[in-house]
Amino acid sequence: MKKIAIYGKGGIGKSTTVSNLSAALSLEGYRVMQIGCDPKADSTRNLTGGKSIPTVLDVLRGTKGPVRLDDLVHRGFNNVFCVEAGGPTPGIGCAGRGIIAAFEKLEELEAYETFEPDIVIYDVLGDVVCGGFAMPMREGYADEVAIVSSGEMMALYAAHNIAQAIKNFAGRSYATLSGIIMNRRNIENEEALVEQAAREIGTEVIGQVPRCGLVQEAEAMGKTVVECFPESDMGRIYRSLAVQLVGAKVSAVAS
Ligand code: ADP
Ligand code: SF4
Ligand code: MG
Repeated sequence: MKKIAIYGKGGIGKSTTVSNLSAALSLEGYRVMQIGCDPKADSTRNLTGGKSIPTVLDVLRGTKGPVRLDDLVHRGFNNVFCVEAGGPTPGIGCAGRGIIAAFEKLEELEAYETFEPDIVIYDVLGDVVCGGFAMPMREGYADEVAIVSSGEMMALYAAHNIAQAIKNFAGRSYATLSGIIMNRRNIENEEALVEQAAREIGTEVIGQVPRCGLVQEAEAMGKTVVECFPESDMGRIYRSLAVQLVGAKVSAVAS
């Protein structure tokens, strides 16, 4: 099982990218689990036809009796296992603690043993890299972190902070940084800006995703580009990024 956490600034395109990667990997034949770790709880929406699934925290808050795995893990496109950790009641409680509680519940109910995913992708908000939001990169939850960023200043600022958090845990066999996925906003000099940030951080740009209207067209139907427009250039870009991100290493693990 390979576990990848995708971090980045809010609104930068993490969930769009992650759900396309999950869809692409499922079509490659992998069993994929996507875990949304953003209080927005919309990570998996393009895998579930635009429907919101109940979050782990909502289910825990609302259930008197024992919670079942099927209440927390929902099947999306091509049987991708979809989970939303959820968030605290607005204005009360700590989102990071919520993520930890959700992870602990999934472990307690043996989600990984039951569904046996080959790949788990955590979709994590990276504006604040406090202890709670750093959780997916700690304690063996994720093996690798990739950062989604455009060339915009605040996205690169978040990328630096995320990389710093990873460095702070280095040497304790926590997650390593595999690189930056550039999700274009088409600002001037964008490629050079992201390349420069990658050099400063000590990593590389591992993939480039263009800005493309098919994302919105697919999103309006509650779908990924990979599902809706599989033969488009954009569909191919997501599929090759997915294979690049996990392909070699996962088959190496499997063999
Ligand atoms: P995050 O999960 O980082 O908060 P989202 O994935 O929800 O961000 O993306 C925010 C919006 O940006 C989405 O509604 C989507 O329409 C748009 N978007 C993301 N990536 C692209 C892209 N490559 N091309 C066009 N629109 C995009
Ligand atoms: Fe919790 Fe982090 Fe939010 Fe503080 S910043 S309340 S630790 S999630
Ligand atoms: Mg999101």
